[in-house]
Amino acid sequence: MLLYNSMTHKKAPLTTHTPGHVEMYTCGPTVYHFAHIGNLRSYIMEDVLEKFLRYEGLSVNRVMNITDVGHLASDADTGEDKMLKGAKREHKSVMEIAQFYTDAFFDDCRKLNIKTPDVVQPATGLIAEFIEMVSGLLDKGYAYCAGGNVYFDSSKLKRYYVFNDHNEDDLAVGVREGVEEDTNKRNKNDFVLWFTKSKFEDQALKWDSPWGVGYPGWHIECSAISLKYNGEYLDLHCGGVDNAFPHHTNEIAQSESYLGHPWCPQWFHVHHLNTNDGKMSKSKGEFLTVSLLEEKGYDPLSYRFFCLQSHYRKALVFTWENLDNAQGAYQKLLKKIAALDEADTAVDDAAAAEFKEEFLRQVGNDLNTSMGITALYNVLKAPVGDGTKRAVLAEFDSVLGLSLLERAAALREKEAAQVSTAAADGCTVTGEGDPEIDALVLRRYEAKKAKDYAEADRIRAALKEMGVEVVDTKDGAVWKRV
Ligand SMILES: [Zn+2]
Repeated sequence: MLLYNSMTHKKAPLTTHTPGHVEMYTCGPTVYHFAHIGNLRSYIMEDVLEKFLRYEGLSVNRVMNITDVGHLASDADTGEDKMLKGAKREHKSVMEIAQFYTDAFFDDCRKLNIKTPDVVQPATGLIAEFIEMVSGLLDKGYAYCAGGNVYFDSSKLKRYYVFNDHNEDDLAVGVREGVEEDTNKRNKNDFVLWFTKSKFEDQALKWDSPWGVGYPGWHIECSAISLKYNGEYLDLHCGGVDNAFPHHTNEIAQSESYLGHPWCPQWFHVHHLNTNDGKMSKSKGEFLTVSLLEEKGYDPLSYRFFCLQSHYRKALVFTWENLDNAQGAYQKLLKKIAALDEADTAVDDAAAAEFKEEFLRQVGNDLNTSMGITALYNVLKAPVGDGTKRAVLAEFDSVLGLSLLERAAALREKEAAQVSTAAADGCTVTGEGDPEIDALVLRRYEAKKAKDYAEADRIRAALKEMGVEVVDTKDGAVWKRV
């Protein structure tokens, strides 16, 4: 497939170290709070990318970390510890917070049809590997100890600004309001590999190390986790665009210095989800979570559909109105699929292959998911049998992950269940599937037949009370809830 590479700023065919196989790494969540739907946009698009690669016939090993230690409020190693902040807020231990929000993250993923990566590694489970990598960087002269901490020495690199698109102003953390410059750093781009001294004396999770009792920096975890599970050559690294600097930049610095050769040639960055007030965050405006969407009556897959309608390299604006439109379009699509004839199982292989080729070409052009959605409509409109349509839709959905056939079947069942009939001599009752109401409507019919109009009116009034309207027809009665 053709993929935009944020390291080269070019769209190019994806290449892999081992032909036919992709080693893929995803930066996972920091589990101190619920993920907001902007975070989840990245995971949805990375999920489609992984599924597309598999659909193309490649094998994929996808690895993700869970950050449960070491991530400070500012990505540049300053500010409060995020996990500690979460624990204080909820009067729980850091490990309880980590477990709770890890489970919550995977619940959200399940609701959004995001497949769990092949390997999921919490940072706290791999401390020995982090220590080994930090020791290696010290041995090779890429790190130094100062003020009790171990720092990566960015002056030892030939090239640090690997993504080319950060200006000096963005990097001037020292002058940013409310952010204290770490005076132990020799160069402003140096970053912490291992903390023993920090302003958080109450840091809950600490481990012994050659440099004293402490905890790892945030960046080292991704390098070490990827090295352990992806091997020395990573093909494709994914994450939200806000991770490109300094997090990904620092990952590259550590990994390449440690390994002594180029590490990962291809970088996939998903852009922001914005609200009308700007970039979505946990601290500003309404805290938009999957649970909130559900509370407001939205199907989480409508949100997935919303994300797929636009390109991952464009900022996407979230409003409730936009989500309403996506939910409406998704429901309409499901209705169309529900109307296909299930009994038709004949598949026109030649037509199916043509559809598939077009889908691969469209979505394979830098993960153009909106063209993937268009491909769904094109299949539904095409002059081929329903069996072929259903087979092709199932294939496309293995990439798009919209549960199209399952949701359409559920819709069909719901519609079928809404129709019930009950019959008595000369009368058929049709309603929305409630035997108790069917029986009342029949009793009213019997009363009318026996000319007991008072009883018939009494029953009609009782039904009205229950919010049920009855319309008499020539064969009986039809009722509905109003
Ligand atoms: Zn990472």
